[in-house]
Amino acid sequence: MQHRKITFIGAGNMARAIIAGLVSGGYPANLISVCAPSPNNRDALAADYGIISSADNAACAQGADVVVLAVKPQLMADVCQALQSQVSFDGKLVLSIAAGVQVERFYQLLGRSLNIVRIMPNTPSLVGKGMSGLYAPPQVSQQDRDFTGALMGSVGKVCWVDDENGINGVIAAAGSAPAYFFLFMESMQQAAEQMGFSSQQARELVQQAASGAAALVEANPETSLSTLREQVTSKGGTTAEALRVFNEQHLPATVAQAMQAAVSRAQEME
Ligand code: NAD
Repeated sequence: MQHRKITFIGAGNMARAIIAGLVSGGYPANLISVCAPSPNNRDALAADYGIISSADNAACAQGADVVVLAVKPQLMADVCQALQSQVSFDGKLVLSIAAGVQVERFYQLLGRSLNIVRIMPNTPSLVGKGMSGLYAPPQVSQQDRDFTGALMGSVGKVCWVDDENGINGVIAAAGSAPAYFFLFMESMQQAAEQMGFSSQQARELVQQAASGAAALVEANPETSLSTLREQVTSKGGTTAEALRVFNEQHLPATVAQAMQAAVSRAQEME
């Protein structure tokens, strides 16, 4: 990965995840800075990873090659307006991880010649298992695309979408998805507790089954998910009986409806 000066505007969970991935992958810490108004989070990042901490968004952005906008979406307009009056974005790469803020909005805020890529990460990035959707307008160079792919590749996998609307699909299929699995695991834990297991035992049973299933999926990339399911489903057996109930209760249709609801909500937020 090319080494460029990167500044993070915002020192929250997502900035921490990406910084951790970069530094643990060998990216030089002295090329990374982080800016936020209050010192707590940014100084903790500086202490943990040896990066530079600052309260001055504009000075950091001006001195950087890559500006990662990592503040909450509702703060984005204010943060960009303040930067716009003090920073020249010519020759810089701007990366936004904010949900629901479209490229067109960044052009309005920071100028039409802005070189920007939108990133939709998810929280497993915190443990190096992220899944990020990436969208770049056509004018973004291959070099900048490669840099962005490698940056997010340091905390997981990446999926490029050709159309910005595809980012909403990424939100439904990956961004919001950890919560779907948490809900499923939570329901299983509760049911196991009702069967007499302690809360800790129930959690361990469910957690290990979930991570084991995910590991099997990863270890068998050529095998379809339905084949993996069939491999643990003997005819007339216990698994078949459980799956019959899921199907009778329309689990696949419910999942599709839930994901569509996430897309609709993402569209409303734009
Ligand atoms: P967070 O609340 O943990 O962090 C936001 C950070 O912005 C804080 O450190 C805060 O101090 C800082 N900040 C506030 N005002 C600022 C200003 N004027 N200048 C500079 N910094 C300022 O949020 P997060 O979870 O890290 O999310 C950051 C972005 O990532 C959001 O836009 C969110 O939509 C996006 N995102 C988050 C997730 C997720 O699961 N957490 C997933 C995808 C995208």
